[in-house]
Amino acid sequence: MQYTQPRPSFKLKPGESLAGPLVLDRENRVPGRINTFLREYQRDGVRFFYERYKEGRGGLLGDDMGLTIQVISFLSAIMKKHGDNLDADRRRKHVSKLQDRKEWRKHRSLPPANATWPTCLIIGPSSVVGNWEREFETWGYFEVGLYIGAPASRMDVLNDFKMGRLDVVLTSFDVARRDIDLLDELPWSCIFIDEVHRVKNPKSKLAEAFSRFTCPCRFGLSGTVIQNGYDELWTVLNWTNPGAVGTKKQWESYVEKPLRVGQSKSASDEEHVKAALVAKILTGQLLPQLFLRRTKDIIQDQLPKKTDQVVFCPLTPMQIAVYKRIIGLEAVDNLVNKDRPCDCRSGKSRKKCCHPVHPGDLFKYMSTLIKISNHLALILPSPSDTTEQTARNRELSKLAFGEKVPKYGPSMLRPEFCGKWQVLETLLQGWRKERSSKVLIFTKSVKLLEMLEFHLSGQGYGFVKLDGSTKQQDRMPMIDRFQEDPDIFIFLISTMAGGTGLNLTAANKVVIFDPNWNPAHDLQAMDRAYRFGQTRDVAVYRLLGAGSIEELIYARQVYKQQQMQVGYNASLQTRYFEGVQGDKSKQGELFGIKNIFKLHEHTYATKMAIEEANVSDLDWALAYMGGSGSGAKPRPKTKPEAVKWVYEEEAKTGKEFDELRGLGALLFDDDTPKVKEEQNEVEKTLSALGVQYSHRNDDLIAENTIEVQRMKKLLEEKKKAAKKAKQRGRQKDKPPEPEYEWPPRRGRKRSLSQESKLHLRQSALIAMGYLKTAGDLPKFAQSFAQSSEPEQNALLAHLDEYARTHS
Ligand SMILES: [Zn+2]
Repeated sequence: MQYTQPRPSFKLKPGESLAGPLVLDRENRVPGRINTFLREYQRDGVRFFYERYKEGRGGLLGDDMGLTIQVISFLSAIMKKHGDNLDADRRRKHVSKLQDRKEWRKHRSLPPANATWPTCLIIGPSSVVGNWEREFETWGYFEVGLYIGAPASRMDVLNDFKMGRLDVVLTSFDVARRDIDLLDELPWSCIFIDEVHRVKNPKSKLAEAFSRFTCPCRFGLSGTVIQNGYDELWTVLNWTNPGAVGTKKQWESYVEKPLRVGQSKSASDEEHVKAALVAKILTGQLLPQLFLRRTKDIIQDQLPKKTDQVVFCPLTPMQIAVYKRIIGLEAVDNLVNKDRPCDCRSGKSRKKCCHPVHPGDLFKYMSTLIKISNHLALILPSPSDTTEQTARNRELSKLAFGEKVPKYGPSMLRPEFCGKWQVLETLLQGWRKERSSKVLIFTKSVKLLEMLEFHLSGQGYGFVKLDGSTKQQDRMPMIDRFQEDPDIFIFLISTMAGGTGLNLTAANKVVIFDPNWNPAHDLQAMDRAYRFGQTRDVAVYRLLGAGSIEELIYARQVYKQQQMQVGYNASLQTRYFEGVQGDKSKQGELFGIKNIFKLHEHTYATKMAIEEANVSDLDWALAYMGGSGSGAKPRPKTKPEAVKWVYEEEAKTGKEFDELRGLGALLFDDDTPKVKEEQNEVEKTLSALGVQYSHRNDDLIAENTIEVQRMKKLLEEKKKAAKKAKQRGRQKDKPPEPEYEWPPRRGRKRSLSQESKLHLRQSALIAMGYLKTAGDLPKFAQSFAQSSEPEQNALLAHLDEYARTHS
């Protein structure tokens, strides 16, 4: 009898028993040993791969819950694994048997590598290759080759593969790209690209190389698919399923553009309806064929909660003064007003006449403002600067501070240099008192990391630090210390050091000190703590300089996140902002250069936009819901224009602004979100700190039920109009005149019944105590927008009842 050593070898919990195999069809099944440890949604993922594999096509799995395990389970099924040591060295033994045969001895020929069992190539960022190897080791007996490292060892792996000795070859993005000529036509049964969202630019060398694989069964994996727009989605889907989503041009005009335009607060009803229809087709018909996407939502009952708190930290008076000095510079003025007619009356624009704009200025000053929003010492010359940086920082700090430029060293710890400091310190003190809390602090700046390190040691906090200089072999012990040692309170991490794969579930607090312009990075950071194995609720704090460019960047992220909600779920979002991505005539408060070089010193711009949108929604609901139908009037259309110059500017900027690459697209291109109630503990702590406003990011991108009502009415109107037009015959193309305008605007005439309905219901809201002060209105509006339609109607009926009996 064969002695078996099953894998995975995890122990069963008391009362748990081994499951049978997961049967995919008569010949393919995931061994029971593996199936025992799969969750139902992971089985769905395995089936998703298998169905497509069977038909010889690809797909995209967007998931953040054990992607590797789903892939390995799928491979164990198609490779006919048993789940024990019967599988060990199976191919090697098979090949040496083949080598005893005549074909080998005579012609040195063997059947293709995938003749007996399927093969697989997995490509990922080099930082995850080792992780894949370990997982294969844990979950079964696979014959795996690592195609990385020195050319000689790579050739050995390639040779092993061609001989048929390997189930799986693992390689990195860069190696696969460079060696594409060697890899593209090999007998792969399927190919996986991990973190496929990194291959987002269709013109990049990566995308070009990967498009050359002849294997049709291609899978993309991503835990954070496509945060930045529909064009990235196209690139990824066009790789997994070439041709299935049309050409790039078609995608742009049929999908991207209508969705972008329709998301604007000032979109015409036509545009708004069109966007909703496109989103419906996209999410209802097209994407499900190609794309299985699950979020942690589906396992919410199994995971602790995560709150994502955005904290607007007031700048210090000194930061404000410096900020103003920078945005008052002539160079910045030249940037902002570059397209205006020149004051010398030459008839030319300012930039082409007396006020030229220096190449690279845009990114130089944007990056300066981001630095100022974080810590004033960041613009001082420091000992670690290169000669070039020293020269630039010297010039900048003179502009910022005048002749008396402070010294870098002592400035690092001066509280008046950094408004975020005090917020952070107060948070830390509170958490330390709790004893059990552990904190991750992320920053993307090497200098901030250094300052934080000084600060934390000065305060006597126990902490460990991971940055770019930390050696690979030192990482695990450091992680273990943080996870296990009760005296280690904080893990300080440079986001640039690549934190993927770090498992830091001992932490229940996460601080993102200087949020990335690309929210995908911040999400990855949060996921270090919020992942399997986490048993406590996780609170995330993203610190933003209030009123600064950081706040604008954040508003743009909300806009993008909303767009993705529309794209993935056809969800109807609150339209918070006026701006439309890519449309110069509709820059509103979000887009365009004038908003970038502005400091909102006393107002909370994002807060205002959100509250206004919610109050106007409430207004609409009070006037029109629970009563008769509404009318719609298309607004004049405007032509979208590209903002090429930003990309040109981006191309001109040097390497030092690499981390800002892509920020131009975020800031210069789009529109957006939504709101909840009750001041929680966090908000109380923060307001005690003088932080006047913070909100939960998730609240902003929840579906807006009022928007759903509006859309219903618009669609009804459209149907009616189409019917009427039909009845009238074909000679009249014009739609019928709408009866009144939507959405209602101040000063505009409403029909009398609507006007008085609004008024009566508003009075009832106050009389019945829903609104005690004017300050309650935005919060009430937000919670109203998020309640269900029956709840809303019940409340409206309640108000009407009150109005009827009290008038
Ligand atoms: Zn001039």
